Amino acid sequence: MQPSRAPGEGGEFGKDGENVERPVGRREHGPRSHPGTGRCQDRQPGRTACPTRAVASAGTSTDTGFSCACCGEHHAETPMNFSSPAPVHWEPGMERAKKCELTSDQCVIRGEAFFVRGLIELPVLGHDEVFSWGVWVSLSERNFLRASEMWENPARESEPAYFGWLSTELFPYEPTTINLKTMVHTRAVGLRPTVELEPTDHPLAVEQRTGITMERVRQLAEAVLHAGA
Ligand SMILES: [Zn+2]
Repeated sequence: MQPSRAPGEGGEFGKDGENVERPVGRREHGPRSHPGTGRCQDRQPGRTACPTRAVASAGTSTDTGFSCACCGEHHAETPMNFSSPAPVHWEPGMERAKKCELTSDQCVIRGEAFFVRGLIELPVLGHDEVFSWGVWVSLSERNFLRASEMWENPARESEPAYFGWLSTELFPYEPTTINLKTMVHTRAVGLRPTVELEPTDHPLAVEQRTGITMERVRQLAEAVLHAGA
């Protein structure tokens, strides 16, 4: 399946309690304003223009903020998580289509593609807190059904890891992060799974293995906060 992204839908990373699942029983049926994923729109490093639109994607912070190399301003928080609200394959209007459903933690497209949301955690050197990307991963139908069946079962912690294809474009990385191979590790009920990248030399996989500096966290924050600028 080819990713399909409408122009101008970039930079839709946000935060909504990245660690915490919402029960499947309480699905959201309201229209979603901007499904899709963040995407860099040819942002030039060091450009001075700063978008005036509200930055809604700030997550938790471990310090008082940072001076932004992108817009020159001091941002009050250093976000430690960015999340994408839908898999890259999700298109506007699908919420009304047959056999398509998107919740905060699961997604089905045309009854044939199955996704769960998880966290790619990157250790931050010298800090207890991790930086995390909230991402979508494509599972086999069998594993998706299994995960759904086990959703509220405390025994799910002993589930073997599920293989999954990464289905979120994390635009600060090249080459693309789409379809990187991962293993999805189920955690306790109520916690989103963690997503472990195949140990390749892809920059994202390297960062997961070796950790990142706080300076790198700020760089990532600048890239995401000003995506589409
Ligand atoms: Zn800025």
